[in-house]
Amino acid sequence: MYLKCPACDSELNKVSVGNILLDVCQGGCAGVWLDKNELKKINNSDCKEGCILFKLKKNPNIVVDFDKQRYCPKCSNQKLTENCWKLKEDIIVDICDSCNGLWLDNGELALILGVEIKGHQESRANKLNTLRKQINTSTQEANSSLVDHFRALISF
Ligand SMILES: [Zn+2]
Ligand SMILES: [Zn+2]
Repeated sequence: MYLKCPACDSELNKVSVGNILLDVCQGGCAGVWLDKNELKKINNSDCKEGCILFKLKKNPNIVVDFDKQRYCPKCSNQKLTENCWKLKEDIIVDICDSCNGLWLDNGELALILGVEIKGHQESRANKLNTLRKQINTSTQEANSSLVDHFRALISF
């Protein structure tokens, strides 16, 4: 029985950081699942810039739907609830109210731990910007289809 990624449904893989064994979505969306207290353990470990947790590669074919309801990979049928990270409010984390596990999308762990990573990182802070752009675009599209509609009225 494998653990299913809450974000992209891929199979989670085990990686070890020091003596901590973690479930990550290596080869999928590159998110990280943390059991209760594992964030504290990582924070106390020597997991810094070069740590494998910050080198997870996101599969470019995987598209994460941030609006989809997510479920805890460890508790059956337990929904994850979205919470703003208490120290940095632009980070949204998914928490299991049953086991107190924590799901972090790619890049969010680095943001939380204050580790700077080179290269593009997808987080929901970026997602928020993308959403805003989409809203602008769809407003423009709505306007242009309105223009087309009027053109059609005029030409007939
Ligand atoms: Zn995933
Ligand atoms: Zn759980």
